[in-house]
Amino acid sequence: MVQRYLWQQADGKRHAYDTDHHQPAAQRALPVLCGATVTPTTDDIVGVWLDPTCWHCDHEVRVRLGFPADEIPDAADLETAR
Ligand SMILES: [Zn+2]
Repeated sequence: MVQRYLWQQADGKRHAYDTDHHQPAAQRALPVLCGATVTPTTDDIVGVWLDPTCWHCDHEVRVRLGFPADEIPDAADLETAR
C-alpha cells in the first residue's frame, strides 16, 4: 500500500505531498501540503536529499494523519524549529 503522504525535495526544502492527487516529476509543478507549489529538478527526483525539512509540511502531515496533540508542534513554534 502506498503511503498517503510522501516527501519530495524541491526548491531547497523537503516538502510533503498528497499521493492521491499528485505525482512528482522533474520540471513539473507540485503542490505541497504547506500551501506552496514547488518544482523538483531532475536532481531532486533522483539525487540525495540534503535540504532541510519543511516544518509546515511536517505539521500538516501530523494533523492529517491524526497524530496525538502532544506530537503536533504549535504553529507558533514552526518559525523557530530547525
Ligand atoms: Zn512544505
